[in-house]
Amino acid sequence: MTKSIQCADLFPGCEFQAEAETEEALLQKAAAHAASVHNVTELTDEIVAKVKGCIRDA
Ligand SMILES: [Zn+2]
Repeated sequence: MTKSIQCADLFPGCEFQAEAETEEALLQKAAAHAASVHNVTELTDEIVAKVKGCIRDA
C-alpha cells in the first residue's frame, strides 16, 4: 500500500508532499526534503517519531 506524507503537518505552509511504497522510503524522501528546505540536518528520535505520526495510507 502506498504511503504518503504532507510536510504541512510538520511545517505549516509547506506544500511538499511525498509518496512511497514503504515507510522507510518515505522517511528518506522526507529527510532529504527537510534537510534541503527546512535545514533539518539531524534526525533525532523525536523528529522521526513526529514524522512517522504524520504518515498516512494513500
Ligand atoms: Zn517542507
